[in-house]
Parts: sequence; C-alpha cells; structure tokens
Amino acid sequence: MRYKPIIGMEVHVELKTLSKMFCGCKNDPFEAKKPNIYTCPVCLGLPGALPVANKKAIDWTLKLGLALNCQINYLSKFDRKHYFYPDLPKGYQISQYDLPFCYNGFIKTNDGVVRICRVHLEEDTGKLIHTTVNGEKVSLVDFNRSGVPLIEIVTEPDIYSSSQAKEYAKKLYQIIRYLDISEADMEKGQMRLEANVSLIKEDSCQLPEYKVELKNINSFRFLEKAINSEIKRQIEILEKGKTPAQETRGYNAEKNQTFSQRSKEEAQDYRYFPEPDIPPIKITNQWLKAIKKELPEDIFSRLLRWQKDYQVRSEFVENLFETSLQADWLEKVFQNMRKAGLDSGKLVNLILHKKIKVNLFQDQPEKLVDIFKKQTVIEDVSDDQLKGIVKQVLKENPKAVEDYKKGKTTVINFLYGQVLRVLKKKVEFERVKKIIEKTN
Ligand code: ZN
Ligand code: MN
Repeated sequence: MRYKPIIGMEVHVELKTLSKMFCGCKNDPFEAKKPNIYTCPVCLGLPGALPVANKKAIDWTLKLGLALNCQINYLSKFDRKHYFYPDLPKGYQISQYDLPFCYNGFIKTNDGVVRICRVHLEEDTGKLIHTTVNGEKVSLVDFNRSGVPLIEIVTEPDIYSSSQAKEYAKKLYQIIRYLDISEADMEKGQMRLEANVSLIKEDSCQLPEYKVELKNINSFRFLEKAINSEIKRQIEILEKGKTPAQETRGYNAEKNQTFSQRSKEEAQDYRYFPEPDIPPIKITNQWLKAIKKELPEDIFSRLLRWQKDYQVRSEFVENLFETSLQADWLEKVFQNMRKAGLDSGKLVNLILHKKIKVNLFQDQPEKLVDIFKKQTVIEDVSDDQLKGIVKQVLKENPKAVEDYKKGKTTVINFLYGQVLRVLKKKVEFERVKKIIEKTN
C-alpha cells in the first residue's frame, strides 16, 4: 500500500516591538539580566489590571498579513482562550478566535500554493525552568516573556512533503526578516514551527481521520527530518492495520525520532469568549493605506526582477540580505554597477566568497563600483617582474617564510597581500601562489 502525507503548519513568531503586547513592560526576555524584572500587574495577571493593545504590534500583523496576500478583517477583536498552566497566570491567553486580523492568504512554493487560513495576534506565556535547588527538583517561572506579542500563522493542509514544508517555512522566515518585525531566531524560540502530519492512501481523496502534531522543532533541517521520521513511523502503524493515535509529539534530534508528549483525543475546549477589557478594533481605510505605503516590494518579485534588471541569480543574492532596507542598499549598488557597465553577478559572487573587502550595508553604495574595479581588474604583469617582487617580499618577511615552511599554509594569503602591495596591481592569487611555492 502506498500513502501520501497531508501536512498543515502552525508557526508562532515573537514580534520585536519595544514593549509588550498589553502593557508597557520592556519586550526583551533574552537580554534580561534576571528573571521577572520586566513585569507589571498586567503581564503577571494580577486581578483588576487592565490590558491596552500595542498599536505597533497590530500594524506589524497587518503588514505581515498583506505580505502573505491575506484579506483583512475590518472589524477585529481579541478573545480569551482558557487553559491552565503555571506559565499562564491569568488562566487564559489573550488571543483571537473568530475574527483574526488577517485571513485567506498564501505562499507559493515550487510544489504548489500553500493557503494560509489565518494570521492572528496573541500574547506569549512565561517560561518554566525545571532545575534543582538545594537538592530538590523544582520548577521556576520567569515572566519576562509573559505578554510578548506573538503572531500565529496557520496554513490549510496544503503541504504534501517534508521538503515542501521546509520551503514553506523558509519562505515565511524570509518574509518576516524582510519586513524586519522579528529576529525570528529559532534557537531562541522567537520563531516556533509546528507541523500537523497525517497520511492517507495514495488513491484516496478523503481527509485522514487523525492528525499528529509535531512540536519542539528549532531549525528548518530538523523540520524536514522530523516530518520524514514521523511519516515512517505512521506508515509502520498503518501497515499493521492500525490508526496512529491523535497526539502531540516532540522531536529528538539526536535520535532522529519523534516521541509522544501528550495525547489529544478530543479537541480541547478553550471556552473562547470576547476579551471584555479591550474594545473591538476597527481597521479604517486610512490606517490600512498607511500600512500599505510602508510595505516594501514583495521580496520574491523583487528577486525575480533583479535577475532581469541586473543579471544576479536569486539563489545567490538572497543569501546576502535579510531586511528590505538591506535590499534597498544592494539595489542601489546594482544600479551603480549597471551604469558603470560592470557585472553585478560577479560582485555578488565575490562578496559571498569573501573575496572582496566590502562593508555590507555600511559603505556608500556608490563606493562599491570603485572597490570592485580596484579589487578585480587584472592587469598585465610579466612573469619576470612578478618573480622579482616575490623574491623581494620573501626576503623582507623571513618570519612568515619560516612559518610557511613549518606548515602554516595560511601565511600564503599574507604573502600574496604583500606582493600586491608592492606591485600596486591586481594579479590572480593562483599565479602568485605558484611562484611563491617555486621560490621557496
Ligand atoms: Zn507588564
Ligand atoms: Mn497560538
């Protein structure tokens, strides 16, 4: 029997606003010197404290929604999602239920369109630390993270392979970094990936009757590996004529295995109801217009356009920048290169291979043309002239020569630099290297 995977994804992203979602506390849990220093009655969940929504966090949610091709709910609201856990002092999380800020978007992948059903805004929880104090096992709570703005992006089950899941997650990460609304560092938990994985028979078009939620995945590579190992595990169960249990599973990277965390036999009842302390939010045309004005050109269209306008390959140049401001800097560089009749593709290559000295995003974009010319134009130098200079350089640097002979081969870069300095011209590294080796 052959099976095909049906995968949906849920991604949580912490926004890097200066303050938290519903209070004025500093939003900086990772740099905090001590636990529980960025707290107040609101984010500690003390009775009677009143939340006030962070306007910037809503702006950024709308921005992301637009970048993900979503529609916007002109009337939106926050809701209480009730559950008990020690890192959630109020006993409920302020989230969004039936009226998320954004809905009906998509990201295109090479294997098809992945529809995004909703993008909503909520608050992060505190953090539990399991440790030993005075020989006793204890769990401590740090509320520095409690109330940090958190965006949740949920897809339809439109993903059919682990590689497509990886591509989706990477593209989402690129868009978030491009908008500069989160550092999205997965090791710090600023971007958290969850995949719902189930299998159906290859010829079936019905939805599977169970789903397994994969959590604790902190890199794109692990996402792919976790899904693959989970697919394997589910096939083994299905082959035995059984149905995999509906549950939440974590991923152990060392064993490359998923493991059961908790069973989820029925959908949990969170008793959602509208948050009475925050009035519903009207997104006016004027508000949305201002957001659209700030929205940069779509990152993927821009990469395609660059390919046409400046002959730079997307798969290379996309490794050079993250934010749209950095992309603006690169674009200015490419414009200048084109004006000077120079090859931007080659420049991208040199920067990626660290073969050109450039202060990325700091140098004046106009300066790059000169830097490129100085460091790449190869001039005519005779072998005899070169040999003479190499001899002189080796004589002037006996220590370096000695180190080189002892096997410290990196010294050759230094000697090469010295040769160029004396020569005041650019020659190929390999050529100089050969002469140095012979002279030795
Ligand atoms: Zn607070
Ligand atoms: Mn959530």
